[in-house]
Amino acid sequence: MNTRRNFLKTLGISGLALNLVPYTAWANSVAPYNKDYDGRVLRVAIMGLGSYGTRVAEAMKGCVKAKLVGVISGTPSKIADWQARYNIPEKNCYNYENFDDIKNNPDIDAVYVITPNGLHHDQVIRVANAGKHVICEKPMAVNAKEGKEMIEACKAANVQLLVGYRMHFEPQTLEVIRMRNAGDFGKITFFQGLCGFKIGDPAQWRLNKQLSGGGSMMDIGIYAINGSRYMTGEDPIWVTAQETKTDHIKFKEGIDETIQFQFGFPSGAVASCLSSYNMNNLDKFFLDGEKGYAEMQPSTNYGPIKGHTNKGELMQPITNHQTVQMENMAAIIFEGMQPIVPIDGYEALKDLKIIDAIYTAVNTGKKTEIHI
Ligand code: NAD
Repeated sequence: MNTRRNFLKTLGISGLALNLVPYTAWANSVAPYNKDYDGRVLRVAIMGLGSYGTRVAEAMKGCVKAKLVGVISGTPSKIADWQARYNIPEKNCYNYENFDDIKNNPDIDAVYVITPNGLHHDQVIRVANAGKHVICEKPMAVNAKEGKEMIEACKAANVQLLVGYRMHFEPQTLEVIRMRNAGDFGKITFFQGLCGFKIGDPAQWRLNKQLSGGGSMMDIGIYAINGSRYMTGEDPIWVTAQETKTDHIKFKEGIDETIQFQFGFPSGAVASCLSSYNMNNLDKFFLDGEKGYAEMQPSTNYGPIKGHTNKGELMQPITNHQTVQMENMAAIIFEGMQPIVPIDGYEALKDLKIIDAIYTAVNTGKKTEIHI
């Protein structure tokens, strides 16, 4: 079996799909799967054993270049459970008080921070100071000031800082980017990003400003922000934004329920986006150009992503986003691989600067310049 077929098999892609799939840009962005891989493996400890941490741990079972070897948690019963499930030795288990000791552990290369947003800043800096590479979930921090400090700390410690932008490795997304770069859509004129869901439990950290840093924008709206950038290929230079709140008990001061926002880009293209914690069925991207268009729905969930362009349906393979992300992150850290769309701290800082500007635009009601 050839390498590509092996790789696709690992990602759970059917033989039928394999025969239909043209060999396109996405394959170049993904570390080639090789069952006999004997290169350096990225040994990862996960911090925060919650719902997304669990998803990443399960997905890492499919990795060859990255391996889950450690945990950091405040709950001893969870640590014991993960030790049994993922064969994690006692010496690689830490809690939130003692994880600075990880600096003395030669068997861990990187820590993946998957905790509430408001904790990322301090935790990432502590990991960097322990001399380990950092992978951090989105949003990297709760504002640009924090983001800059995290980048500085990682630079000073000479460790890499990568952020969990899993869509940057998703095959259909990469095909749209390839087509745009090839000029298939002509000059880009418009992007629409609709991102939202109805949030449940009012007691969860996502609705606590201290832990979340904000409301829907910090959690789901960031997909429309980041998407508007990788779909158009530009960074916005101004924003206007309007907030609406229908439930002041669930969505307290500082927790946005719904924000509509509009961007202007240097080329003259514009975007119209929606971020909501109180509307269902919002997971849609539309990119318009003078010669063509791309539409994706769903556009950022765990998949399968479904998309079509003016040229027809997108037929790229279905992947496990987290498996492919971790394979690529290992290749970035150890092989110097350059992803098509960056996933480093500077990329995340751009989103944080835009989020700061969106909140300013909401609060002032004014068109706000964005200085990236
Ligand atoms: P979660 O609530 O399921 O898990 C959070 C974990 O952090 C829990 O294990 C909790 O015990 C731990 N924790 C540590 N200190 C805590 C504290 N002071 N308060 C509350 N919990 C604390 O949340 P999640 O859905 O796993 O989200 C975690 C991070 O992952 C967030 O930054 C979120 O935005 C991100 N995320 C990313 C994606 C993605 O697709 N990239 C998807 C979901 C979540």
